[in-house]
Parts: sequence; C-alpha cells; structure tokens
Amino acid sequence: MESQRRTLVHWFRKGLRVHDNPALERVFSTARASPEKFYVRPIFILDPGILDWMQIGANRWRFLQQTLADLDKQLRQLKSRLYVVRGKPIEVFPQLFKRWQVELLTFESDIETYAQQRDASVQKLARTADVKVDIHCSHTIYNPEVVIAKNLGKAPITYQKFLSIVDQLKIPAVLERPKVLTMNMKPPADELELEDANVYDCPTLEELVKRPEELGVNKFAGGETEALRRMADSLGDELWVANFEKPKTAPNSLEPSTTVLSPYLKFGCLSSRVLHKRLREILARQPKHSKPPVSLIGQLMWREFYYTVAAADPNFDRMLGNAYSLQIPWQEKPEHLEAWTHGRTGYPFIDAIMRQLRQEGWIHHLARHAVACFLTRGDLWISWEEGQRVFEQLLLDQDWALNAGNWMWLSASAFFHQYFRVYSPVAFGKKTDPSGDYIRKYVPELAKYPSGCIYEPWKATLSAQREYGCVLGEDYPHRIVNHDVVHKENIKRMSAAYKVNRQVRTGKMEDEEDEQEQISTGKRKARAVGTSAKSKRIKNVA
Ligand code: FAD
Repeated sequence: MESQRRTLVHWFRKGLRVHDNPALERVFSTARASPEKFYVRPIFILDPGILDWMQIGANRWRFLQQTLADLDKQLRQLKSRLYVVRGKPIEVFPQLFKRWQVELLTFESDIETYAQQRDASVQKLARTADVKVDIHCSHTIYNPEVVIAKNLGKAPITYQKFLSIVDQLKIPAVLERPKVLTMNMKPPADELELEDANVYDCPTLEELVKRPEELGVNKFAGGETEALRRMADSLGDELWVANFEKPKTAPNSLEPSTTVLSPYLKFGCLSSRVLHKRLREILARQPKHSKPPVSLIGQLMWREFYYTVAAADPNFDRMLGNAYSLQIPWQEKPEHLEAWTHGRTGYPFIDAIMRQLRQEGWIHHLARHAVACFLTRGDLWISWEEGQRVFEQLLLDQDWALNAGNWMWLSASAFFHQYFRVYSPVAFGKKTDPSGDYIRKYVPELAKYPSGCIYEPWKATLSAQREYGCVLGEDYPHRIVNHDVVHKENIKRMSAAYKVNRQVRTGKMEDEEDEQEQISTGKRKARAVGTSAKSKRIKNVA
C-alpha cells in the first residue's frame, strides 16, 4: 500500500526486550520527534533455513516462542507490536524496504561469524535501497571492539588482563523503558495483512517445535517479564549477592544455587548492563563483599571476557584454524559419545547431569565442568567440539562465545592449562550431595541404592543390586570406562600434546623469524602454510 509516511524498522535478533535497548530507542525517539512523518515496525525474522544448520532443541524453541509472545505484549503496551516475518533476512529485506518504504533500519550488533556475514549482506541491501542503518552495541556491557582497540588491537587473553583493560573504560549508561508511542504511529495494514490479518503474528509452539515429545519440564519460562522478575528475585537478598562465591555454590542441589539468568542474558530478555548496574548498586550498600573472579559481577565479567576473545576469531567454535585452541588429537568414539549424550555412561553423577540438561535445559556451571572434563581430557578423550554441539542443542542459554570458550577452558585447550587437575566423576559430586538425592531424582533407576554406593553402583554385589531393583548391565549400564585407569593415561596424552603444540609454536616463531630474514634479504622460499614436519607430527600424538 502506497503511503506518504516512511517506516522506521527495528530488527530484533537477540536483545529481545524493550528495556535498555538503544537500537529500539533510536526508532522510537525518531518517530516521537516527527510523528507525522513515520510509522514504526519492530520486526523479528523467523528464518526457516536456520533449522538446516543450527542445533536448536525443543526446549530452546519453546523458550524463544514464549519470549516472542512476551515481547509482542510489551510492545503493545507501548502502542506498537511485533511483526514476525518468515524467511531469510537477505530475501525478505529487499521486499520489506519496498513494501513499507523504509527510511531507517536499526539493530543490535552481533559478534558471531555467521551473523556478521548476514549483517554485512543486509547492510549492502540497505545501501542499494537507500535505507539508513544504525547499529548499536548493547548485548554486552563493554563493546568487544573497544576493548580490543584499548588493548592495542589484540584481544586480552587472560581474565585479569581483560579486567585491567575494562577498568580504564567508561561504563555505558543504561536506558529506561521507551515511552509509549502515539496511536497514529501505528502503520495501516500492508498488502500482505490485507490478505491475511495474522500474517505477522508471533509463532505458536506448534510452528516452532517439530518434535513435541522432546519437550521437558517448563522450568524456566522465556521472556522479558520473567527475566526482570527473576533478576529482582535473585537480587532481593542483598547479603546473598554480597557473599556470592561461585566455587561455593553446588552443582547438584535440587533447586539452582546460582541465578539462572543465563537464558535471559543469552536471548537479551535481560540487559547485562542493567544487571551490572543493579549489582553495583547493591555492592555500594554492602561494602564487605566478594570480588571477581568468584563474585556475581565476576561472573558477568567472564561473559564479557569470552565475548571479547571470541569477537577476535571467526574460528572460535572449532579447533582447526582457531588462534587460541591447542591442537589435540582427540579420538572418534561414537558409542561413547552417544552414551555421554544420553546419560548412559554408567557414572551416575555424570548421567544425572546429562539427563537434567536434556529435561530442563539448564545445569549448574560446575556440573558443566564435570561432564565437559569427563567427555574430553578426563575420561573419554573426545573432542570439545562434539560436546559443544550437544550443549548447543540442549542448553536454553546456548551462546556461541560462551559455549566454545568454556569448552576450550574445560578441555584445557585454551585459557586454562592445568590439564593434570581432573574432576573425579565419583568424588566431586559427593562433596555437595553426599546422600545422592540429585542422582535419585535424575537417574531414578538407582533410587533405592543407599548413599554408600549410589555414586559407584558397581561396588554393590549382584544380590544387593537385585535387592535395590537395578541390576547393572540390565537396568542401568556398566561404566563405559574405568576412570581410575583412563584419566592417568589421558594426562600423559595431554602432556604429549602440549609438548608438540609448544614445539609447533616455537617452530612457527622460528619460521616467522626466518621469513623476516628472507624478506629483509630478498631471498624468499615458497612454503605451504601448515605443512611443515612439525605441524604434521601433531596428528601422531596419542
Ligand atoms: P550465575 O553464576 O548466576 O552467573 C550470572 C551470569 O554470569 C550468567 O547468567 C552468565 O551470563 C555469566 N556467567 C557465569 N559463569 C560464566 C562463565 N563461566 N562464562 C561466561 N559467562 C558466565 N553459559 C552460557 O550462558 N551459555 C553457554 O552456552 C555456556 N556454555 C558453557 C559450556 C561449558 C562447558 C561450561 C563449563 C560453561 C558454560 N557456560 C555457558 C557458562 C556457565 O556455566 C553459565 O553461564 C552459568 O552456569 C549460567 O548459570 P547462572 O545464570 O545461574 O550463572
């Protein structure tokens, strides 16, 4: 439909909130300043192609569906609404630019490699259509590009260095909830809406969840309303906030011992900048408080740290070509990967965690430590990329930078190098749950096992196993590896891999020096990258 007025479009991707959303505010404030000139259309693009390559489990689809419904509700309270457009961004934008006579497109910046490519293409399309684009950084507290620039163009690769850099930066001000738009900014129905009034409606659960049988309990509902409620609830006890020390929280409590704000931060239903501000206000009132890295602000800084390092490497989520990750000759063992993925390793603590993840979509950070160490350098010697893929599918809070960064940490591939410190799949859980109630909840086959052997059911005699109603090999698997044996072998493998990586790196440095010399003397030899004898040797470790 032709109209004199032009349209201002805010494109929601993450940042699924109305509070502290500078890119949305730009559209709202521009419209408020010249109400006779503009219509406002906030959009979300539902790209069916995403299913082809992105692992999204049923629970995360539900979280997104609830989040979009809530966002639409918030926008309607502001006298606008959410327009959900189905299709691929590069295909739908040229049509939208024309159909709505778009003047301005705003969005929040993303660091993921695929998102950067997508955004570059959309910006090109906008230029062609003479549409202005305005991009804001608000998914993190600090702009990764600014942090990297402040560190002389390199990402700081230790947490302490990162903190010392951001200490020198200004903390951005947070924005209030946008003011209500006036009714006459509501655009008239376009040609598609005239045909089908519901064409831009939010998706239903049925539209998004293709395998409803995979839905677990809806323990953490999606959306900004729930995010703000959960933040208020978590921060209500100021002494708890002030005394928070991550290592002292339990991986296996029956109710979460940390905030579970991660899914809301991942989708941007909650602004990390607002959470940071609220935490700083509390700590100002509680002068005796814990500090980074273990405090709650310290947790947010881990998030900032991983975003910054990830922003500097397009290969952050894979081992090959990744500037941070050591190259480790992991093995392929599909039956072990399958057992780990579905909580059938025969180690009850590990299995309980993996089953909680599948059912509820969230597990405690130290539980993630336990299963990630077990899969990689601890027990199964399987690549962190495989674990990352399973987490990508099952976590509500799945996040490109945080998932890969933490997997590299746990597998001692980057950022953490004490590979000889291996979590015991038996002793670790016992520290905070000696009676094994967590295992009884998530591995109900073992519910009748006494505390004395619930972490090590293989210690029960066959007659005892019968008495407890769960015979190993029939009702619950035998353990797939013997931790006491394999973890020692794996430490040796890690030691060998570290040695080779050191040699390759030293060799590379020597090669670079050679190269400098060749350039300065003008005698340059042709050499294929990465085919030196040293880099080939890495494949033969183990
Ligand atoms: P809280 O302890 O309450 O912390 C508050 C916030 O700080 C979190 O919501 C999160 O945004 C941030 N945070 C806390 N710990 C970390 C950390 N180690 N790294 C980065 N940010 C942190 N977190 C994700 O959000 N998405 C992921 O995909 C993800 N994958 C992980 C994979 C592995 C192998 C491991 C070991 C950790 C992973 N984490 C991930 C980090 C961490 O486990 C979760 O952020 C945390 O458990 C979320 O629970 P919470 O909100 O109660 O955390």
